[in-house]
Amino acid sequence: MTTRIGWIGLGKMGIPMSQQLIKAGYPVTVYNRSAAKEASLQSMGAATASNPAGLIQQTDMVIIMVTDDQAIRDIFTGANGLLSAKVNSRIIINMSTVSPAISKEMALLCEQAGNHYLDAPVSGSVKQAEGGQLVIMAGGADEVFQQARPILQRLGKLAMRVGDHGAGNSAKLAINTLLGFYAQGLAEAVVFARQQGIRTEDLLTLIDNSALSNIFTRLKGEAILNDNYQAAFALKHIAKDLRLATQVGLSTPLAQVAFQTFQEATPTFGEEDIIAIIKQID
Ligand code: NAP
Repeated sequence: MTTRIGWIGLGKMGIPMSQQLIKAGYPVTVYNRSAAKEASLQSMGAATASNPAGLIQQTDMVIIMVTDDQAIRDIFTGANGLLSAKVNSRIIINMSTVSPAISKEMALLCEQAGNHYLDAPVSGSVKQAEGGQLVIMAGGADEVFQQARPILQRLGKLAMRVGDHGAGNSAKLAINTLLGFYAQGLAEAVVFARQQGIRTEDLLTLIDNSALSNIFTRLKGEAILNDNYQAAFALKHIAKDLRLATQVGLSTPLAQVAFQTFQEATPTFGEEDIIAIIKQID
């Protein structure tokens, strides 16, 4: 029987990810807090539900892609939340970047009700989401992961289980710590080179041909050159991720500086892309 999928969260990532599953032929029902965003999915054939409880009643597997711990709490335990539905044997996959603690807490509540939880955050941004090329790191029981795997493989080029509940979130926080360092490092190198009279275009060409070349540097280098800071990955999200990592014990030297820099940049540049950190540093 084809798995009926419920999708919660139609933001920058949730829209292209849920579209991938529709294109793959899965029956998809969507719910978004702001219902207006459901229209583009409806036009592709998705059904809609008016709240998370209604969504889980109609589906076998629920996938969530929302902002943060508070959003997860609202979706699980709020009025008409997932946990208010009298269902069992459902698999709930939380792909949002959230704390390991909230995953452990929600996993326990799901299990008490006879349902299953996987944390499965992603590395990659809107472009990778559009092409089904995300990197997915999962935490939870292996047999649940194996059931979810065919669907996760529609969303990502790699879906890997890294441990029990919360382990996917921990791996994601480690990766995003590095992402914060890269963004700030690139910004600082560009600013320093400019101060020394080196054209940004020339610096980026040199980096791109060096051992430091990578897709991130290429994409964000182009953004700097074009003065285009429209968010693919909003700066406020990396500030959140560094805060989460700090809260679970990250206190190494670079992490402390990156944490502070991104927190300070958030009130001004939070809605812009992560690489807008260059405007904070410049
Ligand atoms: P986004 O565009 O800001 O969308 C956020 C989504 O969460 C929206 O659907 C929003 O609903 C929903 N939401 C927020 N608070 C909620 C609440 N209290 N109750 C119910 N729904 C709520 O975010 P995004 O860029 O798609 O990112 C989603 C997650 O993926 C985040 O955890 C982010 O860190 C992670 N991530 C993002 C990227 C990226 O490049 N963008 C890459 C990897 C991972 P409304 O429409 O009603 O506001």
